[in-house]
Amino acid sequence: RSKDAGGSTYHAYEPQLHVHAEERRVLEIALRKALERGEMFLNYQPVVSADSGTIESFEALLRWTNPDLGNVSPARFVPVAEEARLIAPIGEWVLRTACAEAMNWPASVRIAVNVSADQLGDPSFVSTVVSALAQSGLPAHRLELEVTESVFMREGTCAVQVLQQLIELGIRLSLDDFGTGYSSLGYLSRTKFSTIKIDRSFVQGASRNVQENLAIIRAVVALADSLGMATTAEGVETEEEYAMIRKLGCRKVQGYLFGRPMSTQDARALFNDPAKVVAA
Ligand code: C2E
Ligand code: MG
Ligand code: MG
Ligand code: MG
Repeated sequence: RSKDAGGSTYHAYEPQLHVHAEERRVLEIALRKALERGEMFLNYQPVVSADSGTIESFEALLRWTNPDLGNVSPARFVPVAEEARLIAPIGEWVLRTACAEAMNWPASVRIAVNVSADQLGDPSFVSTVVSALAQSGLPAHRLELEVTESVFMREGTCAVQVLQQLIELGIRLSLDDFGTGYSSLGYLSRTKFSTIKIDRSFVQGASRNVQENLAIIRAVVALADSLGMATTAEGVETEEEYAMIRKLGCRKVQGYLFGRPMSTQDARALFNDPAKVVAA
C-alpha cells in the first residue's frame, strides 16, 4: 500500500490520480466526523458449520451512511481511514460495539471482528482489546479477530508477537481473504490461526468447476488440516458452490446462501427462529 505523503500534489497533473485524491479528500473530511455524528453502524453476517448448518459465529461488517455521500462501502472508505490514521478510533468503536452486542447472543456463538494492519501496528492495540473484553464482559474465547496477510508485510511491525499475545489471551485468529495477498507461507508456521478463510474469488470459481480453483481450495484445505487449522469458504452464494465446498472438506461456510450481512435486530431474531439457521 503506497504511503501518500505529498503524493497527491506530486501527481496532480495526472487527471485520474487527481480524481482519486479529490475523492479521498472528500471521504476523509466526512470520515473525521462520522463516528461522533452516529453515521456508522454494524451489520452481522453468519458463519455456519458446513455439516450441521448451525451458526458458529457472526462477522461484524462496518457500514457508513453519510447524509451527502449516501451509503459508502467499507471497501472504499476503510483504505482511506487507514491512510488518514482514522482506523484506530473507528476500529476501536467496532470492537467495543461488536463485543457488547455478542453478549446478547447464545454463549456458543462467537463474534468475528476485522482488524486492519494499521490497528495491529498500534502499540496500544492489545490493551484496547483487553479493555473491550473487560467492559463488555465477553469471554476472550468468544472473540475472533480477522486479519489479512498484509499484516505480515508491514515494515516495523512485530505482527507475529502481537498476534501471539492475542492468542495467549484466548482470542481466536482468522486469516482473511487467504490466497489474495503477496506474502510468503512462512508465517503460517509461526502464527497459530484457528481458521483460514478462503477468498470468495476461489469459491465462486469452484461453482463453475474451474479446475484451478478446485485445486487451490483442495490444497488450502489440506494445508490447514495439517497445521490444525479450520477453513471457512467465503462468498458461498449457490447450492452448487455449497455442495462443492463440502466435498472439498471446508468445515465452515459464509455467504449469501446462508445469510446476508444483517442488522443487529435481525441477527438477534435468528436465535428465536432456529429453523432459519439451518442451511438448506
Ligand atoms: P471481508 O472481511 O472479507 O468481508 C467479507 C465481504 O464479503 C463483506 O463485504 C461481505 O458483505 C461480502 N460477502 C459476504 N458473503 C458474500 C457473498 O455470498 N457474495 C458476495 N458477493 N459478497 C459476500 P463488505 O461488508 O462490503 O466488506 C468489505 C471488506 O471491508 C471486508 O472484507 C473487510 O476487509 C472490510 N471491512 C468491513 N468491516 C470492517 C471493519 O470493521 N474493520 C476493518 N478494518 N475492515 C472492515
Ligand atoms: Mg473478514
Ligand atoms: Mg474475508
Ligand atoms: Mg474477502
